[in-house]
Amino acid sequence: MTKKIALFPGSFDPFTKGHEDIVLRGLKIFDEIIIAIGYNSKKSSRYFDLEFMQERISSAFTKYPNIKVVVFSELTAEYARKNNAQYLLRGLRNTTDFEYENSIAQVNRYLNAELESVFLITSPEYASISSTIIREVHKYQGDVSKFLPYKL
Ligand code: ADP
Repeated sequence: MTKKIALFPGSFDPFTKGHEDIVLRGLKIFDEIIIAIGYNSKKSSRYFDLEFMQERISSAFTKYPNIKVVVFSELTAEYARKNNAQYLLRGLRNTTDFEYENSIAQVNRYLNAELESVFLITSPEYASISSTIIREVHKYQGDVSKFLPYKL
């Protein structure tokens, strides 16, 4: 049987427990998940360095040989094709996420019709965790450790 490979792309600036929850629940559906830290042109400069985040996320999943963490800077649909990922995994917290994800999914379908987008609804305990809020708290020396699946 063909391995079910999902690409979980995002800015992950930083990767949160909300993201971790989507990955771990995704493992019940997929054989392998590639967490792909991408460059988002809407969020031009990063707060946490790409390579630093890659290393920190990897440290949270050392137990899982079927989770890979990569950095990429090309079209998500193209990157998925090259890496034999048949699924694109994304998380949904609210209607704002839905509006955004809906348009991305339509574009990705146009770019790669073989790639199926799959959405998992956030677990209620993580519904209000966002990378944006964590960056704000961290910037003013607040303790964000509770929201992250690794140590900074
Ligand atoms: P992007 O810049 O591509 O939106 P993010 O790192 O902000 O990347 O998010 C990656 C994915 O994770 C998106 O699908 C987003 O909706 C989802 N996500 C973010 N935070 C949470 C959370 N707390 N619970 C569930 N999904 C989340």
